[in-house]
Amino acid sequence: MIQKVELPSTMEGKTVLVAGAAGFVPSYVSEFYLNLGAKVIGLDNFITGSRSNIELLSKYDLFEFHECNIYESMPDFSQTKIDYIFSLASPASPIDFKEIPLEIMRVNSEGTMHLLELAKEKKARFLEASTSEVYGDPEIHPQREEYVGCVNPIGPRSCYDEAKRFAEAMTMAYHRRYGVDTRIIRIFNTYGPRMRPDDGRVIPNFINQAMSGSDVTVYGDGSQTRSFCYVTDLVNAIHNVMFSKEHTPFNCGNADEYTILETAETVMKFLNSDSKIVYKGLPEDDPKRRRPNMDKLQSVSDYAPQVSFEEGIKRTAEYFKSMQK
Ligand code: UDP
Repeated sequence: MIQKVELPSTMEGKTVLVAGAAGFVPSYVSEFYLNLGAKVIGLDNFITGSRSNIELLSKYDLFEFHECNIYESMPDFSQTKIDYIFSLASPASPIDFKEIPLEIMRVNSEGTMHLLELAKEKKARFLEASTSEVYGDPEIHPQREEYVGCVNPIGPRSCYDEAKRFAEAMTMAYHRRYGVDTRIIRIFNTYGPRMRPDDGRVIPNFINQAMSGSDVTVYGDGSQTRSFCYVTDLVNAIHNVMFSKEHTPFNCGNADEYTILETAETVMKFLNSDSKIVYKGLPEDDPKRRRPNMDKLQSVSDYAPQVSFEEGIKRTAEYFKSMQK
């Protein structure tokens, strides 16, 4: 029987370290804990993160930033108290898998190990942000946490899938061997403002194509599915897991599932776009179906997504529009 989540009423007096703070999801995690009164220490090497996210976070007095490559070396934290560590520092878009596979593997292995060593030393609670990619091209649907996955270890996505599987294994090894207080989340497709417009993922592509009236590019026949979670809902899920009592993984996402063709049509409808759909080749090893079973997190917390797909797409489109000005 898993114990219920107990959320703190404040984070004042606590120090939270966010690895990858300049990235899309981690910038929201940082902001969330700053708004709860915590001190937040952000780390990033800007390989995919953006300086504008750090500028935004720097408006908070309790935000501190270190530019560093966590797989090479960590800043000197010998005099610093750290209570919570979020391991969120991995590039995660399929275009990154092509361009920077070794950096992805290093940050999820050596980088994660440096963060786990810090957690051990500081007696901090550690959360590894893993991914639905650990399920690979899943044979069971929806995906439950017990499912061990179907991953091609040598395919074009393997630099990320296998690195995250390794990061999960190492997190459990630090927990079992040293008693580090660890948590693991598996993030399903997440979107929202602050995504890179040229990130290559489906939601930024479809929004930018629909807004500019250019062709909307559906890969394959569009029958593959994804389940999209708005970023603030994801942060709420992450917070619930950090304050759960459980060391085994939790799926984090939104269980509403769309085919990619439906996604294209829906995005065009929400944005009143008269773009045309064009079909392009399906990338190798593209997972056919993906939907989280959210029972585990929902059985221990009040987590429920709040932002509808329509609202989320409109907010994200507004953001991309504001970037063009
Ligand atoms: N996709 C698409 N058109 C695009 C970008 C992506 O049809 O312009 C498809 C892609 O093949 C995949 C799904 O959308 O089936 C989600 O792709 P994404 O890169 O966003 O993330 P993934 O879930 O594959 O990691």
